[in-house]
Amino acid sequence: MKVLVLNSGSSSLKYQVVDMLKEEAIAEGICERIGLEKSQMKYKANGKKEEILHDMPTHKEAIDLVLKTLQGENGVIKSIEEIDAIGHRVVHGGEKFDKSVIVTKEILKEIQNLSSLAPLHNPANALGIEVCMELMPDKKNVAVFDTAFHQTMTREAYMYALPYEDYEDLKVRKYGFHGTSHYFVSQEAAKVLNNPEAKVIVCHLGNGASISAVKAGKCIETSMGLTPLQGLMMGTRCGDIDPAAVLYVMEKRGLTAKEMDTRMNKKSGILGVFGSSSDFRDLSKAIEEGNERAKTAYEMFVHRIKSYIGSYAAALNGVDAICFTAGIGENASKVREDVCKGLTYLGIDFNSEENSTRKDGIQELTKEGSKVKVFKIPTNEELVIAKDTYSLVK
Ligand code: AMP
Repeated sequence: MKVLVLNSGSSSLKYQVVDMLKEEAIAEGICERIGLEKSQMKYKANGKKEEILHDMPTHKEAIDLVLKTLQGENGVIKSIEEIDAIGHRVVHGGEKFDKSVIVTKEILKEIQNLSSLAPLHNPANALGIEVCMELMPDKKNVAVFDTAFHQTMTREAYMYALPYEDYEDLKVRKYGFHGTSHYFVSQEAAKVLNNPEAKVIVCHLGNGASISAVKAGKCIETSMGLTPLQGLMMGTRCGDIDPAAVLYVMEKRGLTAKEMDTRMNKKSGILGVFGSSSDFRDLSKAIEEGNERAKTAYEMFVHRIKSYIGSYAAALNGVDAICFTAGIGENASKVREDVCKGLTYLGIDFNSEENSTRKDGIQELTKEGSKVKVFKIPTNEELVIAKDTYSLVK
């Protein structure tokens, strides 16, 4: 029972083979620079790592190389027959998809049609599916949407106060992203709390960052919007901003809509304020060296998380657990400490000693008796994709 999980980007392809009995990845890797010079594949399996330089003009050659490597010398399968199905991460499912689906030609068309809402992601996601359909016509492909988990939000949470026709004609509304991660982490928290009705706030803090409020397993609010630009401050994305500031900067700097889009998505956030890097480890090092702009960026990052937690505790009318996940949330103990130390009013009795002790797996970061619990919970988006895929094709 093995599922191939694919995450196709415009010039990259991340993959994992998940063994469904053990519920763990037995091979993983990434193809980079697809369609460019010096394309290469990184591959990890059986405790060994490989880097393979290989021409990959399109995703077809990339997926072909993945399949060959999986059956090669350091492979994990003898033949493609061992792959039961393929699960694909699809970024935007619009209002149509509130759960994962087996892809048919019609569904593929709908994913392609949603490209106007996610022009950087959906075309590449759809391409990955198309190539798999061509290379492995007898296998089922399942689309797992980043937006699906957030479809339980009610209209007062997802509507923007624009003229109603912008919602009706253009489908402009909040969708939310990182859904598989918010789902996985909130489920894990509910299990640890032994309370399926739990009110949980999930802080997914990676290069992209978002936060969600989950009640009894259902998302009621999330910070990302029509696109993954809204909400928290991120590695290179500005997050929340006065929409008038966007128009002002465009006018003053003479920027086109596309240029402003790039400015907000690729040149803002931690990179924009700090100036040197979008990587949190570089930011932390610069703070230690006394860099004031790094300190400002860090304080902004923490402040915004804290403000969202307060807002979501209100939206949930109380909270049982706050969870930290993804690259920064799982590793940057100082961020967790700085966010939580300002939240004593919520009923958090934070355990600083435990927080600064690095451990694998789930870690409880509050003292016994703390009214609200805080957890570090490693996310596993690929496992959610694999499980959804497996349960649909089974
Ligand atoms: P992700 O998008 O989930 O892979 O997270 C990437 C972010 O996590 C980057 O900003 C990294 O700098 C940050 N990160 C990864 N490891 C650490 C660490 N040990 N300490 C602080 N930040 C980290």
